[in-house]
Amino acid sequence: MRKPFVAGNWKMNMTVEQARALVADMLPGLQAVSSVERVICPPFTALMAVSAMLAGTDIKLGAQNLHAKASGAYTGEVSPAMVKEFCSYVIIGHSERRRDFGETDEIVNAKVKAAFGVGLMPIVCVGETLEENESGRTTEVVTRQVKQGLKDLSPELAPALVIAYEPVWAIGTGRASTAEAANQVIAETIRKPLAEMFGKDVAEAVRILYGGSANAANAAEFFGMPEIDGALVGGASLKAADFAKIVAAD
Ligand code: 13P
Repeated sequence: MRKPFVAGNWKMNMTVEQARALVADMLPGLQAVSSVERVICPPFTALMAVSAMLAGTDIKLGAQNLHAKASGAYTGEVSPAMVKEFCSYVIIGHSERRRDFGETDEIVNAKVKAAFGVGLMPIVCVGETLEENESGRTTEVVTRQVKQGLKDLSPELAPALVIAYEPVWAIGTGRASTAEAANQVIAETIRKPLAEMFGKDVAEAVRILYGGSANAANAAEFFGMPEIDGALVGGASLKAADFAKIVAAD
């Protein structure tokens, strides 16, 4: 059985002061649902403050990015070991990074290996754009992202992966995918290639999330689907009551 998993991706929001207030607000609601793995992914600058607040709870911390290299002349970047000082998880290959920062499948692949190299568990994001969706290329695009992004990964590490299917057209638009459509994409373009790459047992062990305008009203529908193990939540994770409701729905 895969343990349900809900992560909040705060993106570029929340100063330290705002982060402290938000976590204080959501902590009681999150702590009430220990059957779900709960992860908060603040910006780098708030990791230390949030980490102190989560100490002694079973709520985990994640970062939103890392650099694949261990150290060196990479101004403005954060290394895997630096992330590992605070985090259990790291989001890799979010569509905003693919779109705005030129992250390719090769870069995603290097980052996934670098994360595992220091004991961080990656939350790998995949998903097609509106144009790719409308031209019937969803299967081709998402399958490629899975196969290239996870290329040559050790089958011993693969079960610890978390993958988020985030159709780009659903992110921040208020226009979520239907639960049925997301379930089908996940089965055919994520779990099937995982089985081909790592075997059926690994494919069955990997948690796969839905992301894209997930909210307190639609979460239960996604979580009711057999292939969907949770959600990667953007906007609604910035509201304490909404995020706690989403977690409680899983
Ligand atoms: P929204 O929930 O704001 O659509 O964002 C989804 C997302 O990108 C999470 O990584």
